[in-house]
Amino acid sequence: MRFQSPERGETEVRTIQIKGGRVVDPSQDIDQVADLWLGQGRVLAVGEGYDEAEVVIDARGLIICPGLIDLHVHLREPGNEEDETIATGAEAALAGGVTSLACMPNTIPALDSQGAAEFVILQAQRARKANVYPVGAVSKGRKGEELAELGQLVAGGAVAFTDDGAPVASASLMRHALEYAKMFDRVIMQHCQVPELTVGGVMNEGYESMRLGLPGMPAAAEDIMVARDIRLAEITGGRLHIQHISTARSVELVREGKRRGVLVTAEACPHHFTLTDDRLRTFDSNFKMNPPLRTWGDVEAVIGGLKDGTIEVLATDHAPHSPEKKMRELDLAPFGIVGLETLIPITVHGLIEPGHLSWPEVIRKLTINPAQLLKIPKGTLRPGADADVTLIDPEARWTIDPEKFRSKSRNTPYGGWEVRGRAHTVIVSGEVRYSLGGIIHHHQHKSPPPS
Ligand SMILES: [Zn+2]
Ligand SMILES: [Zn+2]
Repeated sequence: MRFQSPERGETEVRTIQIKGGRVVDPSQDIDQVADLWLGQGRVLAVGEGYDEAEVVIDARGLIICPGLIDLHVHLREPGNEEDETIATGAEAALAGGVTSLACMPNTIPALDSQGAAEFVILQAQRARKANVYPVGAVSKGRKGEELAELGQLVAGGAVAFTDDGAPVASASLMRHALEYAKMFDRVIMQHCQVPELTVGGVMNEGYESMRLGLPGMPAAAEDIMVARDIRLAEITGGRLHIQHISTARSVELVREGKRRGVLVTAEACPHHFTLTDDRLRTFDSNFKMNPPLRTWGDVEAVIGGLKDGTIEVLATDHAPHSPEKKMRELDLAPFGIVGLETLIPITVHGLIEPGHLSWPEVIRKLTINPAQLLKIPKGTLRPGADADVTLIDPEARWTIDPEKFRSKSRNTPYGGWEVRGRAHTVIVSGEVRYSLGGIIHHHQHKSPPPS
C-alpha cells in the first residue's frame, strides 16, 4: 500500500491504524468508538489490535465511515472543461468527503458509447482522486429517439443509464430502456419532468413566480412523469431511480409505488431540503436549478420521505458552471449549482441539526444505499473491502467560501453560510488523498517484540 505524505513523499506502508474515532458503518450496523485498521489497500478490521501500525491517524472526536458515494455528479469533460474536468470534479469530491461518484452523460459529445465510458474511467485513474463511475446515456446522443447501445456501455464500465440534463420524454423509449437495462441488472435514473409543461420556465410555478412575474415550472410536470415511470417500471419489472425528487406529490407516488412492490428508488439533494422558491426574490441565478426550488410544503415532504425511507439516497446533482455563464440574467443563466464541497455541512444543517436524521441514517444514504443501487463494491468497512474511508469532523465550524473550492466553478447559493461539519481526512484505496492535517503520525521504527 502506498501512502502520500507531503513531508516524506510516497512510502510503502503496511498498515494504517485510525484510532479512537466513532466508527459508523451502516452496512454492518456498527456505531461505536473503535479503531479501524487498513492494510494493502483494504480494510483489515474494526476494533481488534494488530501490531504497531506504520501510520497512526488520531481520529478522536471524528466520525470514521465508509468513503461517501455521490451518485449524481456532472463533470463537464469532454466539452465544457472551463466549467469542470474529470480531475477537478474528482478533487472537489474528495474535499467534500466523497470517495466515489457517478457522473452524468450530458457531456459534449454525450456519454453514449463504450469508448466514452472508458475515457471517463481512464481520466479518473490518471487524476488519482475520487473513483469515478460513468453513467451512460439512455438514448443515442441523448436525443430521446433511439436507445443507446446499452450493452456496449456496460462493457465500457457504465453502472447505470440516464439522459439527465433532460428527461426521457417518450414513454415507449422509457419502457424499452427499463426492459433492456433489466437484462444487464442496471438501474434507469430519470430526471422526471414533462418537457411540454416546463418550456421557458426558470423557477417553481406558484405564488412566488406570479409575484416575481417569472415563467414557472409546475410541480405537476414532475409528478406526472414520476407516476408514468413508476407504472412503466411496474409493467417491465425494471429498476427505476427518481433523480433529485422535489415535490410532495412525487414523494407520495414513490412511497405508494414501493408499497406495491415496484422497484423504484429515489434521491434527494441538499438544496431541495434546505431552500425554497422565495429565494428567487434576489434574482440570484445561484438559486436557479432544475428541478427548481419548491415550497415549504415540498421541503417538508422531501424530509418526510428521507425519514421514512421512501428516499434512500442523498446526492448533490453537482452542476458546475463558470461565472461568465452563471452571471447572466436569470432567464438566460444555466440551471444548477455545485454541491460536492457543501454536501456534509448542508446535510448537517438541513437534516441532523433539526433532528430529522441521525449520523448513521445520513451515512447510510451516502454509502451502502447508493453502492447497492449501482451494484458497486463500495460503501462498507467490512474486512476485505476497498480501503475508502472518510473521516468527518462533525463539530467543525467554518464559513463556506466559494473562492476556496477545488471545483473549477463557484456557483453555490451557500457562500458565506456559517456551517458545522466537514470532511477532515479522506482515504481512497488506502492512500490519504485529502486531509486538513494535524492528525497523522508516522512510525519509522517498529519496537521489538516483548521478550
Ligand atoms: Zn436532472
Ligand atoms: Zn443532474
